[in-house]
Amino acid sequence: MNSKQKPTALMLKYLYAHLFVVDPTRELMLEKLSYQDVYELIQQIKRFTKEKQQSLSSSTSFQEHVIWRIDTSSSEELYQIGNKLSLQYFGRPCKVPIEWDKSVKDAAGRFIFERTHQKPIKIVQSLWQYTQFGAQHVIATLKHELAHYHLCLQKKPFADGAPEFVAECRRIGAPLFAVKMLEGYQTYCSVCSAKAEVLKKPRKKDKSPCCKADLVFKEYIIRLPDGRIVQVEV
Ligand SMILES: [Zn+2]
Ligand SMILES: [Zn+2]
Repeated sequence: MNSKQKPTALMLKYLYAHLFVVDPTRELMLEKLSYQDVYELIQQIKRFTKEKQQSLSSSTSFQEHVIWRIDTSSSEELYQIGNKLSLQYFGRPCKVPIEWDKSVKDAAGRFIFERTHQKPIKIVQSLWQYTQFGAQHVIATLKHELAHYHLCLQKKPFADGAPEFVAECRRIGAPLFAVKMLEGYQTYCSVCSAKAEVLKKPRKKDKSPCCKADLVFKEYIIRLPDGRIVQVEV
């Protein structure tokens, strides 16, 4: 097998959903992995999940990494998990609701707050992303949203990218972003070569925003919910 061959989008999604197994500190350069690298990581994950499921019933304390399924018929279990994460990582309960949201597709989750007084209102989690990436992705997202929540309560800067926020995400092992997943061809402006939209299919009418010129379709990419862009095979 060619060691330069890229992994497929599907393989990368699976790896991403189980990243904590092989990369708990989120240091792997996903952008640089070959097909073979990802294949081997997936085998490791499969061995791990098999062993975990066998030892699942023996433990009573809260362990975030043994959760594989979350009830979606109501938000009750989702809140319970979020509250346990809140206690574990921040030493305080989560006093706002945590809810599934059917309509959120452009983000993994969202921290909603009252703008004038900067007061937390609730945390929502995209139900669609749960079906795409599974329970461990939801847990990673909840940790990200809880970092927003607790910094907001402490009247500290809590926006994505704020140094205080980045430090909190690093401390608790949460992704720095909770964005929409995107897949398609990276396009470039045919005149000035600037990066343009990510598109699934060539459409004649699409023009570059910079020069209103035709688009050139190049590498096929996937943008993961933590914002990382990785080149994959179609
Ligand atoms: Zn955020
Ligand atoms: Zn241009």
